[in-house]
Amino acid sequence: MADTLNDIHLAYGDSVYPLYKVIGPFMKNEPTKDEVAKFDNEIIELKNNGKTHDEIRKIYKVGASTVAKSLKRSGGKVQKTGKKTFGYIGMVLYDRAEDKVQCGICGEWFRSLGNHVFQKHGMTAKEYKDRFGLYYKTALCSKEVSKKRSEAIPEQFVKYRKSKKHIEELVVANKKRKKPHRCGVMQGKNKHGLCDEQIKKRLLVVRNMSNKVEMSDVTISDVHKYDSPLHMHLISKYGKVKSVAERFNLLAGGRIKHQEIDLISKLRTFVLKNKKMIKTKDVDGNPNIPSVGTYQLRFGSWRRAKMMAGLDQLLAEVKA
Ligand SMILES: [Zn+2]
Repeated sequence: MADTLNDIHLAYGDSVYPLYKVIGPFMKNEPTKDEVAKFDNEIIELKNNGKTHDEIRKIYKVGASTVAKSLKRSGGKVQKTGKKTFGYIGMVLYDRAEDKVQCGICGEWFRSLGNHVFQKHGMTAKEYKDRFGLYYKTALCSKEVSKKRSEAIPEQFVKYRKSKKHIEELVVANKKRKKPHRCGVMQGKNKHGLCDEQIKKRLLVVRNMSNKVEMSDVTISDVHKYDSPLHMHLISKYGKVKSVAERFNLLAGGRIKHQEIDLISKLRTFVLKNKKMIKTKDVDGNPNIPSVGTYQLRFGSWRRAKMMAGLDQLLAEVKA
């Protein structure tokens, strides 16, 4: 489910907001599906039903050690699965008043998450960031802690880091190193308002601003006109105007897709075929004919569209 900043304030209080720049809406974290715990629980149940290790092993087609390990891990106790998670995908919640950040797994608040996540949840910071769609460079700590940590870096090191030579060296090294492609990480998408949900919402805004009725009437040039950052992102991501148009069901250029002649011929075809006057209810949900709104937009009104198509005369001819 998507939440707004207002929902966050209602749920956690006014002092809580995203730690890094994020544009809403925010997508809630899915509950964890703890596959391991589920497997352990099943084994416990089989064992309680009087099955021997060997029988269990055969049911799952696994080695005896897997069963033994599972029982050791769970200690024979049934664990809760599908645990509730907290927070949102691709962001860290920050409480300004307490100067604490929220753990997405247990919902507790801490100055710094790294240690907690490792000790309580047996997860490295990297795994945590993978799980919650964060950049690896994202610091899992409050603003004060992060400030203190950066101040703790020796001055000469900061100078060295900023030297031109060093930056050039870094750029060269970076080009050589193969990095996992993480442009699609939720945090990055959120930051620019570009997760799929957000793109759809922004396109809706473009549609309304350009006074179009249907999404398929919105042109790429409309997107350029009313939301040029989004236009830039879509073009750089999909390469061609045509691909963007296909992906989001938009018009490729500034052309008019349902040209008037096309719209008129669709009305005439209907009348010819069905030998009756077309009504708005015939258009609703009819995949062959664009919506009444499209006709109203193009011809001023539905009535005028029918008039332009010369339907009365056509019907008389058909019936004669
Ligand atoms: Zn936790």
